[in-house]
Amino acid sequence: MTSSAPRPSDAERLDLHNASIDESAAAAGHCGMTDLHTGRVCQERQDHVGSCAFVAPSHGPTPDTR
Ligand SMILES: [Zn+2]
Repeated sequence: MTSSAPRPSDAERLDLHNASIDESAAAAGHCGMTDLHTGRVCQERQDHVGSCAFVAPSHGPTPDTR
């Protein structure tokens, strides 16, 4: 092996590159899965079990729990 591209980070979530994932929600530790039909975003934990709970984005300012 010669020069290989440096790996960005092991923590990088490849699913962030998916258009159906809300990056801001995912970055905040949420599932971030977006319902393409309604535009709602799942605000459950990143590794939550069960079905996604989609929340309408027009719910006001999202509480940032950083
Ligand atoms: Zn979800």
